[in-house]
Amino acid sequence: MAPRNKTGAARASRVGYEFAQTPASAQCVPPRSSKGTSKGTASPDTTYCQYLGSLVTKLDRVTRVPKLIVDYAKSMSDVILKPGPRQHVVAIRALAGFVSIIPHILWIAFLFAGVMYFGLPWKSLLYFVLFHQLIVFLDMLSFPLRRSKHRTEKILIVGGGLSGIRCAVELLANGYTPTIVERTSAYGGTWNANDYPGCKSDVATSYYLFSKWFPHFRMCCCAHGYSLRNTSKWYAQSFASYAGLEKLTRFNCEVQKLTRRPSGGYDVFLKTSSSAHLYQEHYDYVIFAIGALNKPKMIAPASEHVVHASAMSEAKSVSLKNKDVLVIGAGCSGTQMVGPLMKQFNAKSVTLCAPRGMWFFPGTIIEHPAKSILDFLMQFVPLGSIILRAWENKVGANSSENFRTGNGLELHSKYTRACYQMVGLESMIPTHPVQGTRPIVDYDFFDTVDQHQAVKFLKGRVEQVMAEKNGARVQINGASHLFDFVIVATGFETDLSRRLASLGLEVNVADNFFGICIKDLPDCFFLYGPNTNSQGQSITHVMEIQSRAIIKLLNKHDAIPDVWYREFSNWIVKRSPKELTACTSWYTNGSGRNLINYPGTYQEYEQRLEAYLSRLN
Ligand SMILES: Cc1cc2nc3c(=O)[nH]c(=O)nc-3n(C[C@H](O)[C@H](O)[C@H](O)COP(=O)(O)OP(=O)(O)OC[C@H]3O[C@@H](n4cnc5c(N)ncnc54)[C@H](O)[C@@H]3O)c2cc1C
Repeated sequence: MAPRNKTGAARASRVGYEFAQTPASAQCVPPRSSKGTSKGTASPDTTYCQYLGSLVTKLDRVTRVPKLIVDYAKSMSDVILKPGPRQHVVAIRALAGFVSIIPHILWIAFLFAGVMYFGLPWKSLLYFVLFHQLIVFLDMLSFPLRRSKHRTEKILIVGGGLSGIRCAVELLANGYTPTIVERTSAYGGTWNANDYPGCKSDVATSYYLFSKWFPHFRMCCCAHGYSLRNTSKWYAQSFASYAGLEKLTRFNCEVQKLTRRPSGGYDVFLKTSSSAHLYQEHYDYVIFAIGALNKPKMIAPASEHVVHASAMSEAKSVSLKNKDVLVIGAGCSGTQMVGPLMKQFNAKSVTLCAPRGMWFFPGTIIEHPAKSILDFLMQFVPLGSIILRAWENKVGANSSENFRTGNGLELHSKYTRACYQMVGLESMIPTHPVQGTRPIVDYDFFDTVDQHQAVKFLKGRVEQVMAEKNGARVQINGASHLFDFVIVATGFETDLSRRLASLGLEVNVADNFFGICIKDLPDCFFLYGPNTNSQGQSITHVMEIQSRAIIKLLNKHDAIPDVWYREFSNWIVKRSPKELTACTSWYTNGSGRNLINYPGTYQEYEQRLEAYLSRLN
């Protein structure tokens, strides 16, 4: 990596940042006052103003909370109003989450009872409440806001998904003023784009949130063991709004091409939806937060009756009532759809087709009553979600050892068997064979399969899909079937090399350093880049680790030595266990190599990365 370019006009803004809306000049506008210099040498006057400014900004953020709560209530009402057998459970959880904005009140009542009936000293009540309030308050204040130190490097973040917004907050906190470009009209990335029926996260919610800030937000989200699509979208948008990122973001703006200047940095060619012309800007650094899973993999041409799962929102106007629907792929998306397709869309039949059998193994957290109750209670314990997260971190740290010793697969199947026994899976769907390697986290799936004989499973490979006037003819294992509607849930194109090549950057993404830097691509960083998906662990935590690492790299003078790229790549190849390639349709690239997943836990990822970075000057 080339030495860092740390020049540029000093830009010390008083309160925050301003943004010119016209695309031709769309960049962060220089400040009204530029008394201070860039790195911590601001005059006392400027520092005082900045301090006051950041205080005002903090207060402004606090006043946004009620609006965010209203938004949350709106997104929840959507869930509550939908019919379904477990809907009362969902509704209670959602309401509980909402009420838990004031969990300390419940705790005061609880402790009050302790004082009244069990003789607890009054002081303990007071101390407990004060302690809890203090933690909540510190958590709120610890949200990183703009520092008084101002850095002048021009940084572009491409993508307004969870990783882009998380990194932007980290940059702001360290005095940088990034520009974010997002090709769609809203934050959220994956959770904005995917709106197929039943869409939700398949890792537990407490794992799918940033590690701290807004305990009440976290509790709201934890109203569901696994966040619904709407909740994750709400979380991303609230987070960005709370951090005041709107002023730095250009929506409907896409990066189309990048060229590196010999003197450093990149000329970036951007296109807005309102104009046919490209416009050009120069940035010292580019951070790609473009996600790995947003280019649908189609195994047949899309048509009126054949759509990709991620495009289902556009097909919503299509009536599936009394139609025979085929879902190709029985992964998370495919299985999550079964319930809603039968119950809300009133399909006549749903056939799930996959070449390697199905994932019929319920997520214990939602399916096992004891776990469910525990999860529910945790929301009411002050700091409960933080405790839960810490516990999960500990479990994750232990399983690093399993990856290291190669015991991962064996332990995983032991766990699977234990879960089968725990929930009595055979009795849940007696009509269908039990098999699979990972949980289905869907409230509706098992009820639907059990109640509707019209749900069928087909083990086979789809050989051909031919659109017909009123449906599609599908060839599976040599036999021809006719369906009224076909939903392709076969994952995404994950070839990052190809995506970068389309932007004019010809590199081999296999030569990467912890997925953050790619060899031969100086001054570029990646979030949720190659080899960093933590496989069922917290990807939001990985995003945080990567954001912090990028800040460190920006502050270092040394480049990543070539040998580190080689070491990381060799380590990945040597370490990759069988499980890494379990889901070929989501994780492997055109040549069959898995360049998405990291063969270890994120705790180990962080430790190894730290050890490397500490050796740089
Ligand atoms: C259906 C589905 C379910 C998933 N479920 C889970 C789950 O349960 N748990 C989990 O950990 N992960 C899950 N994932 C993975 C998920 O993608 C990540 O967890 C996470 O959301 C990635 O965030 P991101 O910001 O890195 O990328 P994304 O969310 O993909 O955001 C990338 C953003 O970049 C924008 N962009 C791309 N190219 C350009 C360009 N050239 N110019 C401007 N903007 C651009 C896109 O519009 C998008 O908004 C799921 C993915 C899908 C598709």
